[in-house]
Amino acid sequence: MFDFDLFVIGAGSGGVRAARFAAGFGARVGVAESRYLGGTCVNVGCVPKKLMVYASHVSEELEQAGSFGWGVPQGRFDWPTLIANKDREIARLNDVYRSLLRNSGVNLIEGHARIVGPQEVEVSGQRFSARHILIGVGGWPQVPEIPGKELAITSNEVFHLAQLPKRVLVVGGGYIAVEFASIFHGMGARTSLLYRGELFLRGFDQAVREHLRDELLKKDLDLQFNSNIAALERQADGSLLARLEDGRMLETDCVLFATGRRPMLDNLGLENVRVALDERGFIAVDEQYQTSEPSILALGDVIGRVQLTPVALAEGMAIARRLFRPEEYRPVDYQMIPTAVFSLPNIGTVGMSEEQARAAGHSLRIFESRFRPMKLSLGDSQERTLMKLVVDAETDRVLGCHMVGPEAGEILQGLAVAIKAGATKAVFDETIGIHPSSAEEFVTMRTPRSPN
Ligand code: FAD
Ligand code: NDP
Repeated sequence: MFDFDLFVIGAGSGGVRAARFAAGFGARVGVAESRYLGGTCVNVGCVPKKLMVYASHVSEELEQAGSFGWGVPQGRFDWPTLIANKDREIARLNDVYRSLLRNSGVNLIEGHARIVGPQEVEVSGQRFSARHILIGVGGWPQVPEIPGKELAITSNEVFHLAQLPKRVLVVGGGYIAVEFASIFHGMGARTSLLYRGELFLRGFDQAVREHLRDELLKKDLDLQFNSNIAALERQADGSLLARLEDGRMLETDCVLFATGRRPMLDNLGLENVRVALDERGFIAVDEQYQTSEPSILALGDVIGRVQLTPVALAEGMAIARRLFRPEEYRPVDYQMIPTAVFSLPNIGTVGMSEEQARAAGHSLRIFESRFRPMKLSLGDSQERTLMKLVVDAETDRVLGCHMVGPEAGEILQGLAVAIKAGATKAVFDETIGIHPSSAEEFVTMRTPRSPN
């Protein structure tokens, strides 16, 4: 009766996962993709960003090399080489995604999909009917409406710049702003980060935010809080002039807006169906990802819950099971989602910040440790690592675990398993450390911080 049991719009993180597993459960699945296989994460997100973080960190590793006795000639960073190598890797991953879809029996249709009815989609003039439609179209950078905004770039363009700019101005105080400020600074660009509030990374633990601020300042990264751009103009020599809201003028070669992402609903045809949006403009879904149009579901960034790839993957898996293997369906658990900000140094975090835990009424014991990582002990670097445990004083349960320091993302992934399993501080205390490592500090902190 239908061309497909499931038609997925968007071959990004969530869409591909749902499509592959649905096909594996025996469903007839079509996927439309208008731009790039693998979506934001593979093409203009997590993957190229992390490659750039690695590239950027090399400058610090070269500095450290001397303290271990290595004579390293003055390094020269070549941006076009990095971009070309990165593009080759992304092209390989695009092919991997193509094969994954093909090998799982999914019918890939390349082109922009538009919903024309509750169970009908049009792609490049061809119409397909489907029992269920899944919207996995992701998000798109959002830039404030200021004069000259077209002179700035976003995370979409930053991965394709022809040259490394000499001076960069990053606007925003979220994940992308902080990560790219670190990346550009590490590569040698004179970098400023402008954030409209008191301190970046709103929502993260206050000690984490302050520690990262202090570490970035030590590296001479220019942080300008309570600052925002009011207008941009191109000067005769090709450079950009930014007028700030407080009247100051800043000259730069590149402005990167990292000011959040909106749902990518352009020309999606939502006017043809009864899919409602929430108050922020994201697609509203119930706990099983169903929109207000019963045959249409949505997942990932377009529903605006938690905009992270592993969350979109988990939602894709849950949807495939709910539709085609209901006996195996398990809802996604949004509690205790670990996350990392790949600044240099990294932030890794899982669970509640101290502020959130206090606001939720917990009485707390806070364990904090700040130390200079052993790897830096032979050199001049004054970088310090922060580790913090937020513990419920009554139940002894570890409510939150936070780190700023090298490999924080890697270390927190393991700890997230323990914390998700309900580990108490006593379990941390009974766990033997791995010595010598930075991570062992998480199981050796014994004295709670004295109450403020
Ligand atoms: P997407 O991956 O965005 O996929 C949507 C797909 O739909 C796209 O391929 C798009 O072309 C396609 N599409 C849109 N409209 C249509 C249409 N009408 N027809 C056909 N196709 C369409 N998350 C992490 O967990 N870790 C990170 O380190 C990380 N780093 C990031 C860095 C940056 C710079 C950015 C921007 C994001 C980052 N994220 C990271 C977030 C992560 O990329 C997203 O949460 C994730 O990609 C969301 O997956 P999705 O399936 O919802 O959508
Ligand atoms: P975020 O929502 O993380 O941050 C947006 C930032 O822009 C905030 O600091 C916000 O300020 C500021 N902002 C918003 N509007 C304006 C404005 N009009 N003028 C000035 N500043 C403004 O979004 P990002 O774009 O950084 O990233 C999008 C999402 O992608 C992230 O939330 C995250 O889920 C995901 N991501 C994950 C990564 C990872 O896992 N490592 C890496 C990159 C992205 P305020 O705080 O005051 O509202």
